[in-house]
Amino acid sequence: MSTNVLPTYDDVVSRYEPVIGLETHVELGTVTKMFCGCPTDFGAEPNTQVCPVCLGLPGSLPVANRAAIEATIRIGLALNCSIATWCRFARKNYFYPDMPKNYQISQYDEPLCVDGYLDVEVDGELVRIGIERVHLEEDTGKTLHVGGATGRIHGATESLVDYNRAGIPLVEIVTKPVPGLGARAPEIAKAYVAELRDVIRTLGVSDVRMEQGSMRCDVNTSLNLPGAEWGTRTETKNVNSLRSVERSVRTEMLRQAMVLDGGGTITQETRHFHEDTGDTTSGRSKETATDYRYFPEPDLVPLAPEPVWVEQLKAALPELPRQHRARLKTEWNLSDLDMQSILNAGAVELIERTVAAGASPEAARKWWLGELSRRANADGVELEAVGATPEQVAKLQVLVASGKLTDKLARQVLEGVLAGEGDPEQIMAARGLEVVSDTGALTAAIDEAIAANPEVAEKIRGGNQAAAGVLIGAVMKTTKGQADAKTVRELVLARLAS
Ligand code: ADP
Ligand code: MG
Ligand code: ZN
Repeated sequence: MSTNVLPTYDDVVSRYEPVIGLETHVELGTVTKMFCGCPTDFGAEPNTQVCPVCLGLPGSLPVANRAAIEATIRIGLALNCSIATWCRFARKNYFYPDMPKNYQISQYDEPLCVDGYLDVEVDGELVRIGIERVHLEEDTGKTLHVGGATGRIHGATESLVDYNRAGIPLVEIVTKPVPGLGARAPEIAKAYVAELRDVIRTLGVSDVRMEQGSMRCDVNTSLNLPGAEWGTRTETKNVNSLRSVERSVRTEMLRQAMVLDGGGTITQETRHFHEDTGDTTSGRSKETATDYRYFPEPDLVPLAPEPVWVEQLKAALPELPRQHRARLKTEWNLSDLDMQSILNAGAVELIERTVAAGASPEAARKWWLGELSRRANADGVELEAVGATPEQVAKLQVLVASGKLTDKLARQVLEGVLAGEGDPEQIMAARGLEVVSDTGALTAAIDEAIAANPEVAEKIRGGNQAAAGVLIGAVMKTTKGQADAKTVRELVLARLAS
C-alpha cells in the first residue's frame, strides 16, 4: 500500500505505540561563564563578553566554574539522580562557526548525575519519567543570517556570529525512553517539560525562559507496532514553547505513521519544528557518537564532588513543586478537581502571586481560570503571556472587594489591562469606570424609575419584593451598568417600604 494521506490521530494511536524521549538544555544563571570569568548578561552588544578562553585562542586554559557544578548537582538531586563521586569532562569535536574552539567541552560517558526520575502529575495520575543523565557542558555562540527574508541561511547575503553566549554553562537533562503512553504521549511530554521547568525555577539556578532560549527542548519520537521493537526515532530540535513540545510529538507521530503506512522507513535524523504551521521538516541526518571523536578533556582535572558536600546540598534543597502544590491545595482549601483545573491551566504560580499581592485564593482562581484563561485560549498564548500581571489582577479584585467596581465593571477594566492601557486604577479613571455610589445620583435614578413604572412600585409597596427587578433594571440602564445591583436593590426597597 502506498499512501501520502495523513491518518487521523485516533487511527494512529489505535495501530501504533509511540516512544518518546526528551533532551532539555538549560542555561544556568551563573554570574560568569563555565570555563572563564566572562559575564553572562543576556542582550549585551555582540562580542563584548568574550575572552581568549571562550574564544578558544591558542594557549588559553579553562577552569571549571564551581557555581555551575553546584547548580548541576542540585538539579541532579532534585531529579533523584545518583551523583558521581568522580567524573570527567569530554571534548565533543565538530566544526560549526558558532563554536570557536571547534570542539565543545561536554560530558560523555561520565556524566555528573545519572539514573533518576521525575514524577509528573497528569490528570491526577502520577507518571514517572526516568532520567538517564544530567550533565554539564558549555553553550555555543549565536549565528545571525542577514539579508534574506526569513532569517534562515537560505537567501541570506551574510552571516554574523556573536560569541557572547559561547561558554555559558549549559545543563543537559536526558530522559530514558518513555514507552507505554499511547495517545497521551504528546500531553505527557508537555507536562514533563513544564514540571522540569518548575523544578529548575524552584532551585533558582536558571530563569528557564523558553522564549528567550534559556530552556530548549529536543523531542525524540518513534512509533512501533504493538509487541514489536521500538522504532527508529527522529529528534525534533529547539522546540521553544510548552505548546510546541506537545504539538511536535503529535506532528511526528502522524508523519511517521504516514511514512510507515506507505511501506517506508523512518530515517534517524534531526528535524526542525515550525511554530507557524506545526510541521517538522528534515534537518541533517543524525551524527553518531563516533562522528564526534569524544575523548576526555585534557585541559581540565577530573571532577570529584565531596560526598559530604553533596549531602549538604541535598539537605538544603527547597520544597519542590509537587510538595509545594500539595501544600497550596490544603491552604487554599481546594478539592482534587479544583486543583487539577488550576494545574491544567498552568495557573498555580500566577494564582499564588495574585494571592500574595492581596487577593483571596478564591477570587484569584476565578480570574485566572475564567476570564483570563478564555482570553489566553482565544489568543493562542500561554496564560502568563496573556497580558495581565498577578499584581494587576489582585488590584482589580481589591477594587471589587471594596465596592469600587462591580464584577461587570471589573471585566471592562480587565479588557483595558489586556489592551495595555495601564493599571486598573488608571483605566478606571481614563474610561470613567467606577461604581456609581453617589447616593444622590442613585436616588434620582430610582425616583425616575418609580415614576415610570407606577404599577410595579405599587406591587412592591404591597409586599411583592420580587417585582423590584424591573426597577433595578431601569436604574442599571440609567447608570450604564455602573451601579452596584445589590445597593440599588436595597435603596429601592427602602424607598418603597410602607
Ligand atoms: P543524542 O545525543 O544522539 O540525541 P541522547 O542519548 O542524548 O542521544 O538522547 C537520545 C534521546 O532519545 C533520549 O532522551 C532517549 O531516551 C531517546 N530515545 C532513545 N531511543 C528512542 C526511541 N526509540 N524512541 C524515542 N526516543 C528514544
Ligand atoms: Mg542529543
Ligand atoms: Zn571568556
